[in-house]
Amino acid sequence: MDLSLYDTVARKKTPFVPLRPGHAGIYTCGPTVYRYAHIGNLRTYLLTDLLVRALRFEGIAAFAVQNITDMGHMHEEVLDRAEDKVIAAARAAGKTGREIAEFFTEAFFRDCRRMNFLPADVYPRASAHVPEMVAIARELERKGAAYREGDYLYFDVTRAERYGELSGAQLGEGEAAGRTDVSIHRHKRRPEDFTLWLPAEPGREFRWDSPWGQGWPGWHVECAAMAVKYLGDEFDIHVGGIDLRFPHHENSRAMARTATGGRFAALWMHAAHLLVDGRKMSKSMKNEYTLDDLADRGVDPMDFRYYCLTLHYRTPMNFTWEGQAAASRAFTRLKKAFDGAEAGEGTDPEAAADFRRRFRESVEDDLNLPRAVGVVHEAAHAGLPGGTLRELAVEWDAVLGLGIVPAARTEKGETRDEGAGAAAPVPPAVAELVARREAARSARDFTEADALRARIRKAGYEVVDVRGGPPRVKKSR
Ligand code: AMP
Ligand code: ZN
Repeated sequence: MDLSLYDTVARKKTPFVPLRPGHAGIYTCGPTVYRYAHIGNLRTYLLTDLLVRALRFEGIAAFAVQNITDMGHMHEEVLDRAEDKVIAAARAAGKTGREIAEFFTEAFFRDCRRMNFLPADVYPRASAHVPEMVAIARELERKGAAYREGDYLYFDVTRAERYGELSGAQLGEGEAAGRTDVSIHRHKRRPEDFTLWLPAEPGREFRWDSPWGQGWPGWHVECAAMAVKYLGDEFDIHVGGIDLRFPHHENSRAMARTATGGRFAALWMHAAHLLVDGRKMSKSMKNEYTLDDLADRGVDPMDFRYYCLTLHYRTPMNFTWEGQAAASRAFTRLKKAFDGAEAGEGTDPEAAADFRRRFRESVEDDLNLPRAVGVVHEAAHAGLPGGTLRELAVEWDAVLGLGIVPAARTEKGETRDEGAGAAAPVPPAVAELVARREAARSARDFTEADALRARIRKAGYEVVDVRGGPPRVKKSR
């Protein structure tokens, strides 16, 4: 079997065939950096991480792009003031929009590291790509697919071929008409048309020159422009949360396809939402949990990652503290089982073959990680020789990214150490970093591996790679 993925346009699982053999270009809608990421956002970003890891597992090199929306798109509720999220947050905090965006971009990167996400190859910032957005809007205008009313430039959705194919939205009907921003856009010819360019109100921090006057680009233009710039007119996979399917994805797709004549994304993947105690997360419910909220309750990011892996990405996840506690316990059991795995303790490739096959089949079946995790648990308790178990852990953790690799441990379960700090055991936090570095190395992600080595060094330890065996860890002199 080969990798198959569920495509939102085809509405079924389809075999994944890269446009360029051995390579895959991936675009993921990134954060609007005006607040901390909540665990729902992180669950959606995890889909990209798992996808990239699964592609590598299949021998396909992924090139991943995730944008940073640092100038904010509009709140539905503040449309009348034409205010954006970054500016609103800045105003509330008495800071500039740029300061707010910078702060939360760093917070986002930190969360990504804590979640053990492989870094994207490019994190384009929307504010640095306005000329590209203007170019797309101009091209649409040239093609007669955009029209100007007042200081606004609109996309004429009737000029897009097969508008609605992605989301099922029908022009002039129901959801589409109901959810569009008619309130401030009285000039639009039809409710589904959307802004490519908006005029800047006096004193607006984020504003750029354009053929339509000083202003700023509409949100859907942002992603389209950045995706096309870094991945081309046609690329392999576009990822985002299910809520973005309409209007954001439908519109970016319509616009990019009309402007470039290319297909834009060949396949669309959407992650189902995370709910907390069966409810949508919201400020007023005080249930918009972040990784820090989880840490306050003793939940490590890897515990949360494990919890996510026990549910398929297209299944809505109902986060509860009880569910998290059960997941954390199962994860601890799993790590314990792998703790016994030692290199050099004998191997039994045949005994591992069936587990290997089932793990791979699960991953290839539209990233069925819950099933894959089930196989890992089975293997961990199947009495396999330590050497084999260790090999499996390294191989599988390249996909799971959980840090289950028993790195740098002696037979007694103590941490391997040498030289200056021979008597002192390596702290668990460092052992964890070592394990993650191992996983990164086996995934051939040397940038991540180097970053982890630097973190290990900062903690006062050195890793020494040993050919064919686990790395040695020693205290820096
Ligand atoms: P935002 O910062 O609101 O633009 O959202 C960033 C990403 O998180 C988008 O891909 C959203 O679809 C996704 N997202 C937002 N809320 C949730 C949620 N409750 N569960 C899962 N993903 C979400
Ligand atoms: Zn987007």
